[in-house]
Amino acid sequence: MTSPHQAALLAAAALVNMTDSEHDHLSDEAALENLLRTIDWWTEADCGLSDLCALRSLRHRLRALWPGSEAVAVSVVNQLLHKFDALPQMVRDGGTENYRLELLAPDGSVAAQLAIRTSMAVADLVQRGELHRLRLCARPECREVMVDLSRNGSKKFCAGRCGNRAAVAAYRARNASSGAVGDICRSGRHPARDIDP
Ligand SMILES: [Zn+2]
Repeated sequence: MTSPHQAALLAAAALVNMTDSEHDHLSDEAALENLLRTIDWWTEADCGLSDLCALRSLRHRLRALWPGSEAVAVSVVNQLLHKFDALPQMVRDGGTENYRLELLAPDGSVAAQLAIRTSMAVADLVQRGELHRLRLCARPECREVMVDLSRNGSKKFCAGRCGNRAAVAAYRARNASSGAVGDICRSGRHPARDIDP
């Protein structure tokens, strides 16, 4: 289960990854609905063209967060909190009787909520010295933005095709090396004894 900060960062990454040098995959309201279905904290049913435009605009600002430069991240966070009028409010903490202080988006739009939630999550990464968790996929042909939620922060590839591709390559490499050992064993020859003096 992801924390609210992790969920915000994953949603921000999903939004940023909806464009590349050739295509914009956030091109219509159907694409918007697909994106919103992946955001587990977004429960509103209605979204329209204004949300689509606002998210496309927000995407450019969020893109600057990858790869994580502290100075840029701090600047983006402060700009977003200012632009979307982040409002500190006391709210119930989950289903408990306790309260906590949270920044809310007065206009309630998905873009405003995503901007403010992502800002809080990035601020937390900066404070903990973990901004490196925002980085690009290591496969040069891909370069999607990713959020490394692994315990030791060593994830190299995005969760989609690249992660699967890397796993398949590692599996084949392991099989190839164990196969080579098997061939030697089956041949009954020892490599060291086959070298001519
Ligand atoms: Zn990738």
